[in-house]
Amino acid sequence: MKGQNFNKYFINKTLRLDYQFSGNINKQDVDLSALSQLPSWDGRRHNLNRLPLEGYGQVTIKDKATGDTIYRTSFSTLFDEWLVTEEAKKVSRSYENTFLVPYPKNTVMVTVAFRERNGHFKDMLTHEVDPNDILIQKKGLNHVTPYQYILKSGDPKDCIDVAFLAEGYTASQMGKFIEDCKIAVESFKNHEPFKKYINRFNFVAVESASLDSDVSLPRKNEWRSTAFNAHFDTFYSDRYMTTNAVFAIHNALAGIPYEHIIILANTNTYGGGGIYNEFTLTTAHHAKFRPVVVHEFGHSFGGLADEYDYGNDNDDTYPLNVEPWEKNITTKVDFNQKWGNLVKTGKAGFYEGAGYRHTGIWRGCEDCRMKTNECKAFCPVCQEALTEMIQFYTE
Ligand SMILES: [Zn+2]
Repeated sequence: MKGQNFNKYFINKTLRLDYQFSGNINKQDVDLSALSQLPSWDGRRHNLNRLPLEGYGQVTIKDKATGDTIYRTSFSTLFDEWLVTEEAKKVSRSYENTFLVPYPKNTVMVTVAFRERNGHFKDMLTHEVDPNDILIQKKGLNHVTPYQYILKSGDPKDCIDVAFLAEGYTASQMGKFIEDCKIAVESFKNHEPFKKYINRFNFVAVESASLDSDVSLPRKNEWRSTAFNAHFDTFYSDRYMTTNAVFAIHNALAGIPYEHIIILANTNTYGGGGIYNEFTLTTAHHAKFRPVVVHEFGHSFGGLADEYDYGNDNDDTYPLNVEPWEKNITTKVDFNQKWGNLVKTGKAGFYEGAGYRHTGIWRGCEDCRMKTNECKAFCPVCQEALTEMIQFYTE
């Protein structure tokens, strides 16, 4: 029965787990940074011990007394993207990561695992959480960031709760932020399968004000004081705008129902990024805002890969002897779990060039929202993957 296991193991609150991921190409570590409690649990109450996707990393919650797995989730992180850069050969760095899980009734064991380059998972850290520990900080009970719903389809416990955060908007620019959130929601309504399932989504706009307008642009030596320290030129790539202020992001959301995060940046410089189950961060005042916000959410919500390539084979993101965990690209190492059903019906095939490489990785269709901004829609492969994700959270 739906919710039965939830009530057996959890209460209607959230356990927020903050970690530092650190290391370099040779050695990585996961360290616990903080534990906190949020006033409600707004995620799924079914499929508790199932993963939405394999992901780059996994969080597993086990009941300590019985050893039963009672909750699992998966994620990606800027840290794993950084690990394939040249810098990771020379220096160790640390990255903030936060995960939300339902608040346990009894003592649990939490394990964080990373997917290694060979596709196998390795446990990085296992630690105990006593739900009655007095040092688990209660957050979100007061000083909640002002927010308003752009679209409220139902109770947060039944819907997928997407929070928009303002980045680089001053307090006096919040009217503009709300208008930008509305444009983003309209763009989702114009893309299947979000269009079909829009009544399973809540979109809330969170007015996280910045001291400065616009965001930092390092290549022009423009540094600004903003809510989440977002900046372009991540990994020296012009258009890659990211933030490492993940704890600040979650602090700004404490007390507001949220599961997925879209940070809108008040800038007209082109760029953004989306990281699976971490966040989408995108430019709100560029002509391509509408397609890009949906593309990045394809990453952060759907765990979809980029279907474009750079016309060469220099990129090392996906080892060619391992099947990527993303549903919309394949190295053909283990295609069984991918879009074979759509090949049979003629809706998809094999198009070489995806995952930043010109050869050795295939996508299912000629064009897609995950390939170009000009394409009008997600390809059938991505639509199916997104539909499965929506159903996983809501059925
Ligand atoms: Zn696609």
